[in-house]
Amino acid sequence: MLFQDLGIIEPILRALHEEGYRTPTPIQQQAIPIVLQGKDLLGVAQTGTGKTAAFAVPILQLLGDRTAVGRPNAQKGHGKRKHIRCLILTPTRELAVQIEESFEAYGRHVGLSSLVIFGGVKQGAQTSALHRGVDIVVATPGRLLDLMDQGFVDLSHVEIFVLDEADRMLDMGFVRDVRDIIAELSQKRQTLFFSATMPAAIVSLASDILNHPVKIAITPPASTVDMIQQLLYYVEKAKKPDLLLQILEDTSIRSALVFTRTKRGADVVARTLERNRINAEAIHGNKAQNARQRALTNFKAKKTRVLVATDIAARGIDVDDLEYVINYEIPNVPETYVHRIGRTGRAGASGTALSFCAPDEKPFVRDIEKLTGKKIPVAHDHPFAKSDRASEPQLTHARPQQHSRQQQQPRQQHSNRQDGRQQDSNSNRPSQKPAQHSNQKPKANQGRRRRWRGQREG
Ligand code: AMP
Repeated sequence: MLFQDLGIIEPILRALHEEGYRTPTPIQQQAIPIVLQGKDLLGVAQTGTGKTAAFAVPILQLLGDRTAVGRPNAQKGHGKRKHIRCLILTPTRELAVQIEESFEAYGRHVGLSSLVIFGGVKQGAQTSALHRGVDIVVATPGRLLDLMDQGFVDLSHVEIFVLDEADRMLDMGFVRDVRDIIAELSQKRQTLFFSATMPAAIVSLASDILNHPVKIAITPPASTVDMIQQLLYYVEKAKKPDLLLQILEDTSIRSALVFTRTKRGADVVARTLERNRINAEAIHGNKAQNARQRALTNFKAKKTRVLVATDIAARGIDVDDLEYVINYEIPNVPETYVHRIGRTGRAGASGTALSFCAPDEKPFVRDIEKLTGKKIPVAHDHPFAKSDRASEPQLTHARPQQHSRQQQQPRQQHSNRQDGRQQDSNSNRPSQKPAQHSNQKPKANQGRRRRWRGQREG
């Protein structure tokens, strides 16, 4: 199937082509026609599936069409301020920025304006953009409510409302805010609701705000992880820093996202890496927004090799070609594991996820394996191994897969390797390399090399 087959208009098709997208992902194939028909949608899907374009593309088309036939915002420049016609609520600032960037990218030939609203920065730029008038607002709930309370935001003309990552909204304690915001929307609207999981509270929220929705479920957690090469390292907690350093000795790992459970943990790990001359930055909720964006920009531009993040800060981070995710700590919520490792292996690309498991984290691994229905292969012969699952199939190595892109470039290390089983003479690192993935990153995805534009003002 091609994007043309979905009834998408030429200016958007052109933009998608410029982005390097050739074929719609499954969620796009299913969601785009439903949204174009004006129906409410309940999408059970997570980031990494192409979810953003699945809603942004038909929204741009609907709003663009309606503008063309003389709806209010068609009369720009006639003294009337534009109304906000579409609101997207999303839990984190990073996600908000990324979504707005996507609207900008897919809508670059459509002529609608967009604005991203989030806290942690001064509000002046956001309120002036609101004053000038925007068609599409992408916002996190806290700052949006704040601006609504101050009278800067009128949501009564919103035609399409998107609630993104509803389950994460719940985890972050935003559901009340979300309900307060929804109360300000017109009843006569189209609502698109996305959540990676559907706990009871989310089912109830969905049934309250959706009107006869069409339900689609894409890539349930178990299958999401199929493309991603996973390895589990049993290691004492105190040895985790050494294991991380040892893994990162491999200079072919050019970019890794390391997850810690706490903000303090993220700082400690980043400092340890820096002390060992590994270029690293931490990103978490205690950091100023500017510092977070700077860290992300550097990471995306591959200036920073390792980004150490907490779950909330990293939620939805969209980094093209992210090869490695390292779970420095195992998350206690199994879905979080799936979300984390989904930062790599985006849109069908391959990726590698390494997880460090201390003795007290074993129950979390069991929960994850129950959720995904798969055992995570264990790396037994790393120098800090804590032998635990002796009966498991021996998948020795710690050295993760090599990606196709790396093959095209001269390797800095291990260039004499003929196959994955040769001993690495440069280090005492375990030697077996898991089989290489044949599923290369699709060409289509390579067109998307966004620079981080930070806050936009519509
Ligand atoms: P999302 O789930 O929206 O966060 O998208 C994940 C990644 O997939 C992003 O880097 C998108 O640019 C990319 N992507 C989305 N749709 C397509 C497509 N049809 N073809 C190639 N890449 C895509």
